[in-house]
Amino acid sequence: MSDEKEIVIDLLREVLGHEKAHYDLKCQITFDCPVCSYEIKQLDHGDGKGNLEINYCRHIYKCWSCGETHNTQGPLGKLFDQFGNKQIKKTYELLKPEDEKYVAKRLQVKLPLGYKKFSESNPRYIPHIEAKRYLNQRGVTDEIIERYRIGYTTEGDFAFRIIIPSYDNEGELNYFIARSWVPKKMKYKNPTIPKETIIFNEFNIDFSKDIYLVEGAFDMLFLENSIPLLGKKVSPLLFERLYNESQGEIHICLDGDAWTDAQKLFHELNGGRLYGKIKIIRPPKDQDVCDLKGDISEYYVNLMK
Ligand SMILES: [Zn+2]
Repeated sequence: MSDEKEIVIDLLREVLGHEKAHYDLKCQITFDCPVCSYEIKQLDHGDGKGNLEINYCRHIYKCWSCGETHNTQGPLGKLFDQFGNKQIKKTYELLKPEDEKYVAKRLQVKLPLGYKKFSESNPRYIPHIEAKRYLNQRGVTDEIIERYRIGYTTEGDFAFRIIIPSYDNEGELNYFIARSWVPKKMKYKNPTIPKETIIFNEFNIDFSKDIYLVEGAFDMLFLENSIPLLGKKVSPLLFERLYNESQGEIHICLDGDAWTDAQKLFHELNGGRLYGKIKIIRPPKDQDVCDLKGDISEYYVNLMK
């Protein structure tokens, strides 16, 4: 572990007492939440629950009990501001990541106004019927809809769009895509946060297994353990995660019309410890993973010859 991480952990202990649990592989450490213990329960000691979870690599914290109600969540700097003394704040100031604003922003993604899951909406409501018909026509079954918490909204900026939410590995919403089911100028309208700062579908990704890289969120619905690139390129963040964490093979499954981009990506990824572990498919020109309903086995191409 790096010195910086050690110092952050020491600062946390100084402010919050002894940890309840620590998984250093995931940079996760938990403590009794000071808000739960002192403010809510008015105790003069920790409540013993260990609900305050901190990720000291990503510099964020959240209380699983009062995070939403008391806003006990956000960038770590906020926690130190609230509970640390002057010296602690000063020390942390030197360690905190430059991109703390990104982290903070990332936590602010919210599902669009009026978002409803299909299972919680009136099946006789016309927009429900239309949106559902659109999904079913694209081969998206009720089971998939439920599994990925797909919903829709008829209000606000994202009105008359199907919403596919994405969650990070802690189960927090980190992005969503909004696809219109009625003809519109813009088929997709997404949140304003930069998509390079998140990994779509991170929550469902098992880095110890084969990973499938697809273009869009609809493609993701048809392939187990797939990451939508929301485009044709791998972001530096995703590249780093794949390079450091993937244990299986990586399958590039871009749309049929993106063969040039797909090959480029192949050569980008096929090096170092990933060498020989990259697979690639070439679907028919006018088709993608979504059209093929995930049935891609006959489209593999060997670029290693
Ligand atoms: Zn709490």
